[in-house]
Formats: sequence, structure tokens, C-alpha cells
Amino acid sequence: MSKVLIIGAGGVGRVVTYKCAQHPEVFSEIMLASRTKSKCDDIINDVAKDTGHKHLSTAQVDAENVPELVALIRSFGPELVIHVALPYQDLTIMDACLETGVHYLDTANYEPKDEAKFEYSWQWAYQDRFKEKGIMAVLGCGFDPGVTSIFTARAAKHHFDEIHYLDIVDCNGGDHGKAFATNFNPEINIREITQKGRYYENGKWVETEPHEISKMLNYPNIGAKNSYVIYHEELESLVKNFPTIKRARFWMTFGDEYLTHLRVIQNIGMASIEPINYKGMEIVPLQFLKAVLPDPGELGDNYVGETSIGCRIRGIKDGKEKTYYIWNNCSHQAAFDETGTQGVSYTTGVPAMTGAMMMLTGEWSGKGVFNVEEFNPDPFLEKLGPHGLPWQEETGIDLEL
Ligand code: NDP
Repeated sequence: MSKVLIIGAGGVGRVVTYKCAQHPEVFSEIMLASRTKSKCDDIINDVAKDTGHKHLSTAQVDAENVPELVALIRSFGPELVIHVALPYQDLTIMDACLETGVHYLDTANYEPKDEAKFEYSWQWAYQDRFKEKGIMAVLGCGFDPGVTSIFTARAAKHHFDEIHYLDIVDCNGGDHGKAFATNFNPEINIREITQKGRYYENGKWVETEPHEISKMLNYPNIGAKNSYVIYHEELESLVKNFPTIKRARFWMTFGDEYLTHLRVIQNIGMASIEPINYKGMEIVPLQFLKAVLPDPGELGDNYVGETSIGCRIRGIKDGKEKTYYIWNNCSHQAAFDETGTQGVSYTTGVPAMTGAMMMLTGEWSGKGVFNVEEFNPDPFLEKLGPHGLPWQEETGIDLEL
């Protein structure tokens, strides 16, 4: 029985709140706090109606203001903060957790606002302070990063003596019927996918032009989709934690129409994060673009099709080469029916709740800052299916890569 504070009332925050409330035996009191309190109230009203959880509350907070966060944490007294606002707030929320002695979990690594760059160094730098304080920070517990990292940990524990080649494959085979929309926060999403590509090979990082490497890959229950190598944050921690890896890449599917829109957005300067002056007001083009694009949290209605995300792995077991594929497919419609939002928010929120459950029930424990692949994958993966994201695995197959 624990109190949990969820920060961020977007699509992911909605799913995390729903899923925590479905397990009152673990999450006995839940507070949802965000910049706009009315969004928290809307979510909590739906969750109370659908789950019957009796101890739900909301609050307004600026997650970039440490004293405000500290005051909120002290007044509510949670054991754990689940951070599903934006990656810009990782460090301020970690600071507030340190000051109050409360555990921390997030789904995306820190990014400075003025530079489209994401890496773990800033958060790994908290290791000693979290250890000394006797609390734990669990980083990147969404789907990717998150489940993909835990899938890799399962492969290493049960299927391989050495993992040599890791390809994370992320397909959104869904259709929301809009000309252009992103599936999670547009600002963060567009920053991520317009960056140069990067993958790891033989101890070095290899940089590519954006979307330079592509291949048609087949996804279960979806079919063939053009997939592109992009950089994704879990590669950084996975090659560190599984040093036998010779090559690690991340593939994401994009439709031609999506890439055309993206190219236009970039060519006309709307993806820029450099502030410009417009009629005496400073605006960041990408933030303005976010304001006019569809809200990803509201894409659920009429969203059909499935996501399919997994790991394709080649390595050695008992002296022989082995191939292994582990994946989850998630239906946008089923996610919407259960939580009122689409599959990408759902596939992020369910693992965040499951990771929080691992921490609060002591299945995952420790002092310091951890990436999810450092824990025992078994209890997490046992719960993941019953929580809404069943997974499958196959060995001895053609990985296409
Ligand atoms: P949204 O933009 O829908 O929601 C973000 C929420 O955070 C909004 O409610 C916003 O408030 C709130 N917020 C923003 N700034 C502040 C602040 N300073 N103080 C308090 N609240 C704030 O994003 P998503 O729900 O789509 O994504 C949430 C997180 O999940 C992101 O960090 C994203 O990177 C991560 N993610 C991780 C994935 C994974 O698999 N690991 C996949 C998808 C997303 P307001 O409503 O007022 O704007």
C-alpha cells in the first residue's frame, strides 16, 4: 500500500493514472499533478468513474520549479514520483526527490531545451547522491526505452551466452486519419526524429544523415513497412550494460506521407528550436507548431491498427549461433476503449506503472540511479501481459537484418 505522485497530465499521464488506479492494493493513494490542473481533474474524473479508486487527487505544479515540487511532495508524502511530463523536467524532479528522500521513475532521458540532444550523462551524474540518500531512480521505463531494454535483459538471461547483434524495431502500423500528427508530444518527437541517425558498431558510434539507412521489414500481424535507422536513447545504456554487443541499431517505421510533411516542416523552418521575434514576442517555431498540431492524447478516436515493437537479436548460445525475436503488438482501438487514449501513450504508460509496481513491491530494489535492464526482467515480464501488453518470442528465425 503506497502513495504515488504522477507528474504530467498528457496522454502517457492518463494511461499511468488509469493503470495505477486498477491496482489499489499497490497504489493505495494517487495524486496527479501537472502544469494545467484542469487536465488533471478531467483525467481523475474519468479514472474514478471507470475504476472506482477512492483515493485520487490532483494538484497544480510547475515541474521546473524545485521549491514548488518539494512543497508538493512534502504535503502529499508519496513513496515514489512517476515523472511523465517532459524530458526537460527530469533533473528538477530528481533534485526534488533527492531533497525529500523519495524514489523516482521516468520514461525519457534528459534533454536541455536549447539543444536537441539527449543522453544519459546528466542523469547518471546523480548516481552518488541517490546512493548516499538511500533512494532509487529508475530511468527510461516506457516501451522504448523500457520494455525493449527489459526484452534485451530477458534475452541475455535466458537465451544467450553472448548477445552480438541487437536491432530494436519499432513499427506503428496504425492510422489516425489525420494528414500529419505525432504520436507523442510533437516537440519532443520531432526533435528526436529529425536528428542525425546514430548506431553502435565495434565499440564506436557511427553517425548517419537523418533517415539515410532504410530497409523494408516485416512486422507480425502488420506486414512490410519501410523502416529507418534513427538514434534512440536506450542504445547508450544497453551497449554499456551488455558489453558483448558488437552492433546495436534502432529502426522506426515512417510512411512516405509522414516523411514528406516532415521535410516540408524542416525546409520552412518550423522544426527550429531557435527563438525568433514575431511582432515583439519571442516564439520558438517548433513550440508554435506543437500548438497547431493535433494533441497526441486525443488521437484515439477512430485510430485503427496496431503498434509492433520488439528486439531482433543474434548471438551465441552453447557455442552455436542463435537468432531470437521478442515483441509486443498493441491495438490502438483496444487502448482507447480502456483508457481513452491511443496505443503509443498506452505502450508507454503500462510499463511505467509496472516498473513503479516493481519498485513499490520490492521486486526491484537498490540505491542509486538505474536503467531498467539492470534489474531482474522476469517479474516485470510476468506482469506485463496481464497489465495489457502481452508479448511473444520466437527463436531460430530469419531476422531480416
Ligand atoms: P504530452 O505533451 O501529452 O504531456 C506532457 C504533460 O506534461 C502535459 O500535460 C504538460 O502540461 C505537462 N508539463 C509540461 N511541462 C510541464 C511543467 N513544467 N510542469 C508540469 N507539467 C508540465 O506528452 P506525452 O504524454 O505524449 O509524453 C509524456 C512523456 O513520455 C514525454 O517525456 C515523452 O518523451 C515520454 N514518452 C516515452 C516513450 C517511451 O516509450 N519511453 C514513448 C512516448 C512518450 P500541459 O498540459 O499544461 O501542457
